[in-house]
Amino acid sequence: MTEKDKSTVLLEYSLKKLKLPTMLREYAALAAVCRKDRSDFPIYLLRLAERELLDREKHAAERRIKDANFPVIKTIDTYEFSAQPSINEALVRQLLRGEYLDYRENVLLIGNPGTGKTHLACALAFSACAQGRRVRFHTATDLVTQLLECREEKRLQRLHKQLQRLHLLLIDELGYVPFSKAGAELLFEVISRAYEHHSLMVTTNLAFEEWTEIFGSERLTGALLDRLTHRCHILQANGESYRLRQAKKRSKGRPPKNQLSNQQQL
Ligand code: ADP
Ligand code: MG
Repeated sequence: MTEKDKSTVLLEYSLKKLKLPTMLREYAALAAVCRKDRSDFPIYLLRLAERELLDREKHAAERRIKDANFPVIKTIDTYEFSAQPSINEALVRQLLRGEYLDYRENVLLIGNPGTGKTHLACALAFSACAQGRRVRFHTATDLVTQLLECREEKRLQRLHKQLQRLHLLLIDELGYVPFSKAGAELLFEVISRAYEHHSLMVTTNLAFEEWTEIFGSERLTGALLDRLTHRCHILQANGESYRLRQAKKRSKGRPPKNQLSNQQQL
């Protein structure tokens, strides 16, 4: 083994031990490039370290997105603001920057079904993940089910601790299904704790006056709304359902029904 072979083996061993996989994969090719560019040693080392750092950040963001448990990945690039003019675009753009998370501010998205609330909430939460924040997506129903199960199995404190480590908890579809008394109280506790520790993002089809119907008690609903809406950004969608609009557009382009063949009508 030549001196050069020996140093290569030792270098690769050290990079592996130090857990620097990108450097290990790219050091030789980048050395050739730097030799050609006549870049000096510190520049070579800098470029190599930058690649390792970039890959590391990319993997960490991918892990955060996986941990967030999004039902589907939605980003802001596919959201058409022109289809929902009631949405405050300037506020959405501001929230995408993520400063509200530093101040533990909440975001409430209110509107009829199909108006893009879940899409927008996921897009905002996705952007938070990309900025290094820990996020978790739950529908209100699955969160309450999980809370009730954890209480049953005496794992409630553990779940609260997990939730407290988040920067953002997204609760989707609040208001579709009413809760039992125990479920409403457990959800209230999550919202109370969030007030001290992290931001909440809630999507709902309910106007504030209707919240008592799903939480049961007027007193509990009052206390909950008080915590949720203090330090809160509200996005309201008053328009028509996006899917309905698309369906109407498609049917406008079609010939009237009596001009379709029998097979097409089926
Ligand atoms: P909501 O949560 O308000 O019921 P969703 O976010 O689930 O509505 O939207 C229903 C579907 O329509 C989703 O596939 C979503 O991506 C799409 N959608 C809704 N609004 C828009 C919009 N303004 N631009 C692009 N897609 C939209
Ligand atoms: Mg939704």
